[in-house]
Amino acid sequence: MGSDSSGLERGGADRIAQFARQEIGPYLADHPEDRYPLPLVQRLAALGVFGATVPTQCGGDGWSRQDVARIGYELGRGWQPLAGLVGTHLKLCRQVLEHGTVQQRAQLLGPMARGETVFARAYHEQGVAHPAALTTRVTRRGLVAVLNGRKSWVTNARHADRVLALARSGDATVGVLVDPARPGVTVGPELPRPGLLGVSLAEITFSDYEFEPDEATLGGWGHDLTDSLLSHDLTSYTARAVGSADAVLDHAVRFVREGWAHRSADARGAMRLRLGEMATKVAVMRTIWHALLDSRRPGDEAASTAPHPPMTSAAAKVFCTSTLQDVVREAALLCGGAGYAAPEQALGRHYRDALALPIIGSPNDVLLSGLGERELSRPAGESPESGHRAETETSPVAGCRAGAETVR
Ligand SMILES: Cc1cc2nc3c(=O)[nH]c(=O)nc-3n(C[C@H](O)[C@H](O)[C@H](O)COP(=O)(O)OP(=O)(O)OC[C@H]3O[C@@H](n4cnc5c(N)ncnc54)[C@H](O)[C@@H]3O)c2cc1C
Repeated sequence: MGSDSSGLERGGADRIAQFARQEIGPYLADHPEDRYPLPLVQRLAALGVFGATVPTQCGGDGWSRQDVARIGYELGRGWQPLAGLVGTHLKLCRQVLEHGTVQQRAQLLGPMARGETVFARAYHEQGVAHPAALTTRVTRRGLVAVLNGRKSWVTNARHADRVLALARSGDATVGVLVDPARPGVTVGPELPRPGLLGVSLAEITFSDYEFEPDEATLGGWGHDLTDSLLSHDLTSYTARAVGSADAVLDHAVRFVREGWAHRSADARGAMRLRLGEMATKVAVMRTIWHALLDSRRPGDEAASTAPHPPMTSAAAKVFCTSTLQDVVREAALLCGGAGYAAPEQALGRHYRDALALPIIGSPNDVLLSGLGERELSRPAGESPESGHRAETETSPVAGCRAGAETVR
């Protein structure tokens, strides 16, 4: 599936916005929420979304950083499970770009960018906070290596074409490029849950899964991912929360407008106040998201090496995913019975999906502990922004065609 030729003249953000706002609602009106949305996934592939973070010389669409950021926002606004599926895949495109061998980049990135090979991520094991504590293991058996272990929750477990599984190999944390159709991989039953339906969520167990050590270990046999796993950017979760909050606010405003003529003066006053409160919270969320994006503009060296991201994107994630819960609750109050029981179930869906956002990525309590720890370790009088490790963007495009722009 290549890029949609009718959309090529528009930027990626416009294409994804148009798709999310015009196609997701009608799709959900006609299909059960818990069915895998293959037609929408195919449309996303045709729009070039799966290759958004892959540079053009590697077979992707090389969207601008701002356009990539809009993917999380628009899909969060439209339907969170799609944001989870795409967000996971785009993170894995970056992993392959940054850590893959020349051969792995050459083989994987083109099909990944076209949405022909969609990746899932089997990283987490319940209660494991540090890669060193993972119990999934790879070991050598002569010329092959074997993978054994169990991953508790894998988004898109049932439909992904490949899975990147994290495991310990000696003192290193390695990523194994797993083909789930091969022997040794068992996808468990669909996990019951209140939201994030449609895209699969299940356990994956690896039992003596055999693989070629150099070819199927990301970066080659022994390549250690530990450091890169300890500092990951949480901006996409903020984007998803802001998108959802904007959709909920719009829903509430529409509801209030439609009934305005029949409301008493008291009801109008109360509704105005509640809308004002919601709008203020959503405006702050949007401002935080834009501040995060503006802190690292592509091509702006001073900004891109500024002492900023990890903790800042953590604080933004905590604030925006928590505030989203307030916004959805307030919208439900404002809309009354018509918010709780309505044909399109929009508020209910945003509410149920929003419950997962403070947990996924990294639990908000864990992030808050880290932020608190940072405050405690900051010498009195020192600026909160000092002492941070600079986060730079890399452009590891060896193995791809030469002569196009850098990764953003
Ligand atoms: C919908 C969904 C999709 C997911 N998709 C994927 C996926 O695709 N791939 C994948 O690998 N994983 C996935 N996960 C797993 C997800 O990353 C973990 O659930 C998440 O990191 C939390 O880990 P845990 O559930 O083991 O929580 P636990 O570690 O058991 O923590 C539970 C709670 O204890 C408290 N807590 C624990 N440790 C600390 C601490 N150090 N400081 C403060 N409080 C603490 C927090 O309140 C925390 O929320 C998914 C999970 C969900 C719910």
